Amino acid sequence: MEAVRIQGQPRALVSRAAILHNVQLIRRALRPGVRLCAMVKADAYGHGAALVADALTNFTHGDMEAPAVDALAVATMEEAESLAGALWGFDGPAGGLRVADGRTRPPSPRRGIVPVHVMRPVERASLARQREMLEGAIRAGWVLTIVSAAAARDVANLAAELGLRANVQVMVDTGMSREGAPESSVEALLVGIEAEPSLRLDGLCTHLATAEETDRRATEQQLRRFRRATDAAKARSARLTRHAANTAAAFFHPDAQFDMVRPGIGLYGIDPTGRPSIERALRPAFRWVCPLLMVRSVRAGEAVGYGQTWRASRPTRLGLVPVGYADGYLRGFSNRAMMRIRGRFVPVVGRVSMDYATVDVTDLPEVRPGDEVTVLDCDPLSPASVYALAEAAGTIPYEVLVRVGARVQRVAIDPADQADDEATWEEPGWRALGKPA
Ligand SMILES: *Cc1c(COP(=O)(O)O)cnc(C)c1O
Repeated sequence: MEAVRIQGQPRALVSRAAILHNVQLIRRALRPGVRLCAMVKADAYGHGAALVADALTNFTHGDMEAPAVDALAVATMEEAESLAGALWGFDGPAGGLRVADGRTRPPSPRRGIVPVHVMRPVERASLARQREMLEGAIRAGWVLTIVSAAAARDVANLAAELGLRANVQVMVDTGMSREGAPESSVEALLVGIEAEPSLRLDGLCTHLATAEETDRRATEQQLRRFRRATDAAKARSARLTRHAANTAAAFFHPDAQFDMVRPGIGLYGIDPTGRPSIERALRPAFRWVCPLLMVRSVRAGEAVGYGQTWRASRPTRLGLVPVGYADGYLRGFSNRAMMRIRGRFVPVVGRVSMDYATVDVTDLPEVRPGDEVTVLDCDPLSPASVYALAEAAGTIPYEVLVRVGARVQRVAIDPADQADDEATWEEPGWRALGKPA
């Protein structure tokens, strides 16, 4: 038995350089002049919203100036609030711009706070808590999403009381049957908003349901409906920002780019098709690591974990990994996923429980407690990649990422941090496909 307790916490290492590389790659797919609004909802898809917003607005990379993006978007006002500290203009610039390799640079002329869009429509503005949030949102100048005349009136009244103009955008439903305003109601809604002196109509948007699918017809129909609903307003006011494209549409439907795109998953280096693609060398930015807690030997025939769903067929060395489904390491990974230790892959055996998972390290006799375990790998071709994990649990990479829990500390890393960090950073394995990253 070598059951030794060791110190150390599970951590998610988030590469700013990878995120900025992905921004650059998405920009290359855009028509000239199209702006990029980065989706940082759901804690930036689990990567840490403040960390990601900081990387996107305050860091430069290669020849890309800061801010790397033109706007940020979140789902809720609470999420917008949690970005505040990371953005210029809230706390004020703290000095020179930082570069993704860790050095600082003098502030660039483009520095400044980027607009923040709140995508969930304003509803129930009369509730005290909601009213308070809305006041903060209007003062901060966030772009609020409106889908009803009642919400437009509520926001207009509140802004008038504050002596301010509220920025708003109208979301049109064109085929999701979700939160957007029905197409038939849009023109009246827009005319109403344009007539309110305390509202400033910033833009018009919609959301696409099937942009990653090879059958293009549904997306084309949504885009036709979007144009039909918004062409008149755009003709009245050319400065309105029209936006529709998620990551998949930004890559696959140039017609959906309009004035701005709203990529999410691609920023984090995940291909919108749900599989790594050699055509788009996106770099996953997220690596989840933790120290191996214990190693123990069991006899052939011994069972592992709740339900005793796995039994040792030989004398076995088991590694105990201190992550479980409370951390977002899904129960669906039980007996299916792999983890990486010392550059080798080992299977998760038995059920994943709330706080622990167990791996079979019999074939790696050199493994010791304290060894770094990569629970979720940044290499898109790794057996522990977010793609492989999503497949193991019958879900999509988005869900695997956003489930990663609050006990997992998010740590920003750059290539230059390698030497300081006990965890090493490895480039994703595009070389394995015969193409440089
Ligand atoms: C999440 C979201 C996006 C980004 O979608 P990805 O597929 O992650 O690129 C864009 N727009 C809206 C309204 C969203 O909710």
